[in-house]
Amino acid sequence: MATPVRVRFAPSPTGMLHIGGLRTALYNYLFAKHHGGEFVLRIEDTDQNRYVEDAESDITKSIQWAGLDYSEGPDRPGAFGPYRQSERSAIYKQYADQLIENDYAYFAFDTTEEIEEMRSRLEKSGNPSPKYDAITRMSMKNSLTLPKDEVERRLASGDPYVIRLKVPRRETVRFFDEIRGFVSFETQGLDDQVLMKSDGLPTYHLANVVDDHLMEITHVIRGEEWLSSAPKHILLYNYLGWEPPKMAHLPLIMSPAGGKLSKRNAESLGIPVNVRDYVTKQYEPQAVVNFLAFLGWNPGDNREVMSLDELVESFSLDRVVKSGSIFNFNKLTWYNEQYLRSRSEASILEQVKPDFEAAGCSISSQEFGETVIRLIKDRASLITDFVAEAGYFFNAPESYDEKTVAKAWKADSTPALIIEFAEILQSSADFSAEHLKHEAHSFLEAKGLGFGKLGLPLRLAITGKGAGPDLFEVIALIGKEETAKRIQKALETL
Ligand code: GLU
Repeated sequence: MATPVRVRFAPSPTGMLHIGGLRTALYNYLFAKHHGGEFVLRIEDTDQNRYVEDAESDITKSIQWAGLDYSEGPDRPGAFGPYRQSERSAIYKQYADQLIENDYAYFAFDTTEEIEEMRSRLEKSGNPSPKYDAITRMSMKNSLTLPKDEVERRLASGDPYVIRLKVPRRETVRFFDEIRGFVSFETQGLDDQVLMKSDGLPTYHLANVVDDHLMEITHVIRGEEWLSSAPKHILLYNYLGWEPPKMAHLPLIMSPAGGKLSKRNAESLGIPVNVRDYVTKQYEPQAVVNFLAFLGWNPGDNREVMSLDELVESFSLDRVVKSGSIFNFNKLTWYNEQYLRSRSEASILEQVKPDFEAAGCSISSQEFGETVIRLIKDRASLITDFVAEAGYFFNAPESYDEKTVAKAWKADSTPALIIEFAEILQSSADFSAEHLKHEAHSFLEAKGLGFGKLGLPLRLAITGKGAGPDLFEVIALIGKEETAKRIQKALETL
């Protein structure tokens, strides 16, 4: 039997979860579920300096909001825990020791100043990117250059030290990336990576490799920004005598204005980058998920709207693209509209009811409320558009859209036309939208006028706005009496 698939999402709690992080989590989730495997959440919190207090809870809430259930994580104990690296410190030390014992790593006692001095010395002699590497390490203070007894003395007396990986001088590290194919790196370009810091905590590289191995992760699926770390990881797997997991580096997410989608350039375009923003703005979680799934992947046919289950069913790494994917915010809006439209009026009403009440729109009956929702639904991009639009269904307009007034309310002809049509409305026994529309058309036809002459000023009188859902549906819904009152008020005001 093949090994069961186990993947992980391994964010560092250094800030609110980025929308790109959610895509990484999603691809891991889809891959796991497609293969009937496990999706694990691991918190990589070994960097004390960058730790942000609320970040972990933001990460868990965000991925739960998106419906990406993980089976193991800090709040879901499993057989491979703990799932927070800060609770695993004791584990890493033994592997660092093992690497030293086998001459793949060494203790380094250099101070920051000494390293700086080495760098500037090399820069002066024409080396543009000096490193702590196979050549320079031999002139530094470490367990490869210092006499054995001095190393022991320093260790025993608690001198600060780090443990560095002994990156070979000239080697080609080659590995297969499930998305990019064979990738190779020359070790000559690598630093002797610090594995254990002077605070006794591992760096990302050591902790990541140890945990992926111990947690039996079969596939590492992560953003392209980690590709350059992969050769160090491959060396570590080799030196620890472990088989590396399969690797897949996802394409970068690009800004529509070019370049990587950073917080700064996204915000200048009005694109929120934290998942939290989408939660607060009440985006449909499935719309965000569907959009993110297509940010670097497609099912190979013309489907666009796909449920999480359908995505699971169709997902494969070989359809993930290599090149960066542009974050098209309009497309996300489009997805949100599709998902809103697919929801029942009753469920939308239930969600927006508190906001309606708060805005002074009290819903007299379920039927009335659902009709309001139905009329707005086709025009809504976000759930908050319902309350923004709904006011005139409940209360007469307080003001009238100035542009529309200027355009459509002609002092010499409009009031007379409106008064005449208002009489037809009042005498109409059938107050259905369909009938009223029919009345309006024959009224205008007899006068040889286009619809806009009446439609726009009448809309203004009823809703205060220049655009909106079918006007006669609105009139039919608010009823004869309210319609008369509003027309009267408009005639007085305008
Ligand atoms: N802790 C890394 C991050 O913040 C994880 C990268 C990886 O998946 O290896 O994204």
